[in-house]
Amino acid sequence: MPLIDELQAIVGADHVFTAPQDTAPYVVDWRRRFTGTALAVVRPRDTAAVARVVRACAHHGAPVVPQGGNTGLVGGGTPDSSGRAVLVSTRRLNRVRAIDTANDTITVEAGCILQRVQEAAAERDRLFPLSLAAQGSCTIGGNLATNAGGVQVLRYGNARELALGLEVVLPDGQVWDGLRGLRKDNTGYDLKHLFIGAEGTLGIITAATLRLYPLPRVRLTALAALPDLGRAVALMARARDRAGPLLTAFEVMSAACLQAVARELPGTRLPLPADDGWFALLELSDHEDDAHATALLEALLAAALEAGEVRDVVVARSLTESRTLWRLREDIPEAQRHAGGNIKHDIALPVSAIPAFVAATDAALRARFSWIQPIVFGHLGDGNLHYNMGGVPGTPLATVFAHEAAVQRLVNDAVQAHQGSISAEHGIGQLKRDLLPDYKSALELDLMRAIKAALDPTDRMNPGKLLATAAPSGDTVQAR
Ligand code: FAD
Ligand code: ZN
Repeated sequence: MPLIDELQAIVGADHVFTAPQDTAPYVVDWRRRFTGTALAVVRPRDTAAVARVVRACAHHGAPVVPQGGNTGLVGGGTPDSSGRAVLVSTRRLNRVRAIDTANDTITVEAGCILQRVQEAAAERDRLFPLSLAAQGSCTIGGNLATNAGGVQVLRYGNARELALGLEVVLPDGQVWDGLRGLRKDNTGYDLKHLFIGAEGTLGIITAATLRLYPLPRVRLTALAALPDLGRAVALMARARDRAGPLLTAFEVMSAACLQAVARELPGTRLPLPADDGWFALLELSDHEDDAHATALLEALLAAALEAGEVRDVVVARSLTESRTLWRLREDIPEAQRHAGGNIKHDIALPVSAIPAFVAATDAALRARFSWIQPIVFGHLGDGNLHYNMGGVPGTPLATVFAHEAAVQRLVNDAVQAHQGSISAEHGIGQLKRDLLPDYKSALELDLMRAIKAALDPTDRMNPGKLLATAAPSGDTVQAR
């Protein structure tokens, strides 16, 4: 039977898209930097159907591209242009299977939208802490496949730290049931960690058991204006010292970020002047009463003002005000997209190295590219910056992108010189695949290829993402 007919028999003809107008939203990435073609987009409803789809693809030798919310930023969920791949969309795998409040776990299917998981936890008075600007459309499966970070990593860790168990459809169609809700399990290799952060190259995650936490009673948000990034590091150290685990977020953004949000997104009102310097958005979450958290935050900010770390500050007095402050931070990617895009770097460095790295790298970039405007923001608490480079207002986008490779080389070399990472949270996908060999050791890449070959010997699960497509058998694989 032709593959399309088999797929229709498994999921129903209504859930196999082949017409270009139906597949279009799936074959272009969020940033519209990658466009591919798919033989079909398939939307299975349950794990058994995913397994049958993958088995049928294996039988026909068709590549499989897993996709969740399609909010990824590195082209990991976009098929290539061969038109051979079957794109498996998990969006209909969207049930909450169980919540165990005594064990503090939730078991959800991979296509559950992140915000829905947060809401399901909150309905049972629990917190699911993964939180990022794409939470209204990204899925748990995508979050795990990219080991997503976001704004509460400082306190609760990345997606990896939140996963206790997984269910995965392997490249040959077998289902691995690893849905355990255990915090301790030393029975050998911890297989779930292979699939987390693998960007869909080792299998399709179909469900996960995730950690829950007590729901904080109070959340306080403040936006502080700072003279420079060094003061932001000092303020964060002070906040950690004073607030300990109550400090649940510490984000930074340069004045240029706030200017971009105000310029690109109508209706934005900046609560503080943003002519220069840096801004920190900090959040305290407390299980005691409002008065306790407020007193702590006020004492902390008063000491920071006194020490000259902070120039000015606004504290949100209501949930609405808090959302308004958070929106300034969360709207930065949208403002950048609105402006036509820029050259993105998603880097990690030791927190202590960040001020010197930014000063030196900004200066080197400005010396070489007269048009450049850094738009730098990120999760300072995790040492993770979105070190993005646009043009000063009025610069043609063509000028910016004509220099993309040279800008990336300069930045990534500087990151490497500081023992950093060229991908802190968005992954490698297609975007950084060919850069990876220059920034990861040959041994590490060989180990990754060995794992890929063991689980997916015919290289059909999301081929060409993360690692270059395997050489046809008989060819020797180049070390670099
Ligand atoms: P997709 O984009 O559909 O897929 C991403 C990758 O995962 C692809 O390689 C795909 O093949 C694979 N995949 C998807 N589902 C599965 C599955 N079930 N099994 C196996 N593989 C799968 N990321 C952060 O880490 N932190 C942030 O703060 C953050 N902020 C963002 C803000 C905005 C506005 C946007 C647009 C994106 C942001 N991202 C962030 C990136 C993105 O949202 C995350 O990478 C997210 O985890 C992707 O989820 P998704 O469901 O959209 O995955
Ligand atoms: Zn981020």
